[in-house]
Amino acid sequence: MKITITGIVQGVGFRPFIYRTAVTNGLNGYVQNRSDAGVEILLEGRKDAVENFLREVHEKKPPLAQIYEVATTRLHGSEEFSEFTIKRSSDVAERSGSVIPPDIAICNDCLRELRDPRDPRFSYFFITCTNCGPRFTIIEKLPYDRENTTMREFPTCGFCLKEYRDPLNRRFHAQTVACPTCGPKAWLTTSSGEPVQHDDPIREAGRLLSKGKILAIKGYGGFHIAASATIDRPLRTLREVKHRSQKPFAIMARNLDVVRAFAEVSREEARLMSSYACPIVLLNKKDAYHLSDLIAPGLHNIGVMLPYTGLHYMLFDSVKDAAFVMTSANPPNQPIVKDNEEALEALSETVDYFLLHNRQIAHRCDDSVLRMHGKTPVFMRRSRGYAPAPIRLGKRASLRVIGLGGELNSTSCLLLEDKAFISQHIGDVENLETEQFLKNATDHLVRLTSSKVEAIACDLHPKFTTTNLAQELAQKNGWQLLQVQHHFAHVAGLMVEHNVDKMVGICCDGYGYGTDGEAWGGEILLCTQETRDFKRIAHLEKQPLPGGDLATRYPLRVAAGILYDKTEAEAWLLENKNHFPHGKKEITTILNQLEKQRRTVTTTSCGRILDAAAAILSLCFKRTYEGEPAMKLESTARNGKDTLKLKPSMRNDTLETTPLILELFRKRTDLRTQDLAYSVHAYLAKGLALLAAEKAEQEGIKTVGFTGGAACNEILTSIMRRIVKRSGLRFVVHEAVPPGDGGISFGQSVVGGFFQS
Ligand SMILES: [Zn+2]
Ligand SMILES: [Zn+2]
Repeated sequence: MKITITGIVQGVGFRPFIYRTAVTNGLNGYVQNRSDAGVEILLEGRKDAVENFLREVHEKKPPLAQIYEVATTRLHGSEEFSEFTIKRSSDVAERSGSVIPPDIAICNDCLRELRDPRDPRFSYFFITCTNCGPRFTIIEKLPYDRENTTMREFPTCGFCLKEYRDPLNRRFHAQTVACPTCGPKAWLTTSSGEPVQHDDPIREAGRLLSKGKILAIKGYGGFHIAASATIDRPLRTLREVKHRSQKPFAIMARNLDVVRAFAEVSREEARLMSSYACPIVLLNKKDAYHLSDLIAPGLHNIGVMLPYTGLHYMLFDSVKDAAFVMTSANPPNQPIVKDNEEALEALSETVDYFLLHNRQIAHRCDDSVLRMHGKTPVFMRRSRGYAPAPIRLGKRASLRVIGLGGELNSTSCLLLEDKAFISQHIGDVENLETEQFLKNATDHLVRLTSSKVEAIACDLHPKFTTTNLAQELAQKNGWQLLQVQHHFAHVAGLMVEHNVDKMVGICCDGYGYGTDGEAWGGEILLCTQETRDFKRIAHLEKQPLPGGDLATRYPLRVAAGILYDKTEAEAWLLENKNHFPHGKKEITTILNQLEKQRRTVTTTSCGRILDAAAAILSLCFKRTYEGEPAMKLESTARNGKDTLKLKPSMRNDTLETTPLILELFRKRTDLRTQDLAYSVHAYLAKGLALLAAEKAEQEGIKTVGFTGGAACNEILTSIMRRIVKRSGLRFVVHEAVPPGDGGISFGQSVVGGFFQS
């Protein structure tokens, strides 16, 4: 019998497993990896043994393997094999849809060996096996064999080779097998790249961090910048040189027990943090929070991950620190740094030391970030540990489509039959470097899945880099080009994720280019797969955006735009004149422009209303990272109540926001800030949910969804859920795809695959 298996079956110890299963069932033949990331098996033997084999393949498969499809063909003729072997990989690539696994955190067996002085890999930072280690970030091409990875440069020693060839060993056919004799080496250098002689460079790096030094540390998918989590001085330096005055830093903690001392950890959060993906999880700070306030200033939560490589564990060995700051090393508007040379060039002014190793990184990959809304995981960023494993959909797409994403926080996505492969996090695609990264990541996805693309989807915005790139690629390759409205992409993605074909979708975020060319961002859309389109059925009130982009950076401008002719706003703005780069003069210009109604841009953005509220409550006057004012407003609202008790004011399918901002302004000093912050959430969530539920009932639609960057906000989400459910409707949010712009590429590609005829 010839068997081909598709799924995640390379790089997960699948061939050794097939070998053992065949041998125990007394079968002869072979197993081999194919260039389409699938596995081919030939079996000779008794019928009942073959049947038993097939059952065991499903029941006993290795923990990281995923089987999508098993195709069997009965063969006839005489027996040819006298044993079962693992054959050299073949270059056959005829079945698309298989893929190699994401990078996998160090397993418990490897961790035990790392700690065992009698083990040949004792204290070896790059200890891995068939169950763990890097995959996605080291693979250059398929099939997954050592010569196709960046481990190619490290020929195995006799000891490693013996394990590699031993069917009973955990490292049987482990492509990343290495030891201190034959594998990659780590070393320390000064900030200018001078080697620092040390017998134990990794533990020395930990000691340097503990003493207050800043280090660049090479990991699986790129460099981290690391520092102490309790000493303010290096963090202050880091914020100055990185021009990151407020943006939160992620931290890596020694273990879960120490995390519990400074943050709340639910059972679900603990499980997520300890999973093989080992993501950063945003945890609520405890009252007893004892780490530096410079890590996540003004926020109620902190991003924490556990060590995921041998090297990470060793950093903590000879120090008492509970955690270190571990933030992606990316220069402004650039992808995460991955090569040693590149790091020395880009980071030498930021760090005191480099901890380098000599294994190349084939593909950049940032850490993933999630938070839990109760028991539902929400992706802020889906990257290391998840990419390129596909999202499996309940139905088949009619087209093979690439989605190139929007502009900020981008990813790309390849939709192939009933699976969507989303790339690692690319970032803000605004310059050549990130555009190149997007191109490479997209090519890599296409190669990894051996697929033939038919269409390419992008945003409706005529000037996005990704729109231009899509047009270029469509023309060059003869692909169909689809331009998809931003918020339609969000809602369509949510529909396909939940296999729903009609939905009223609430989509709230900062900005998306509307079909009328205006700035949208607080939308209620009616989408049906039948009509293959969407209808904008309601939205937030249009508000002026004085200065356009400037207003997104300085939220006081948004507040000024709403308040200018209504109250004693001018006096208040003047009180805050120091928060305008040009002081009083700037305020006068803004007010003059508003009064004369000189072509001010308007927006229906929900993000801008949250921004204005944050400014009125003095929580944030300058946005230094995406979402900052809204995140600080949510953090403040966490223990608040709705004391404003404002009834949502609707007019002609518009939820008015002026009454909210006006009332907030009037009561800004009378009521508690946390209650006012909560009241803003309550007004918007209630208003939008009531509108959406009403529309759904009118249209006979059973499902209301919430998507867009604002769906990362737990308060908005939980209020909406309550109201929609009370109306007897189903309420859905994203669970597999980021609700923010990291999910746009997915939404664009499913519009191509499911909403087109
Ligand atoms: Zn392992
Ligand atoms: Zn070795």
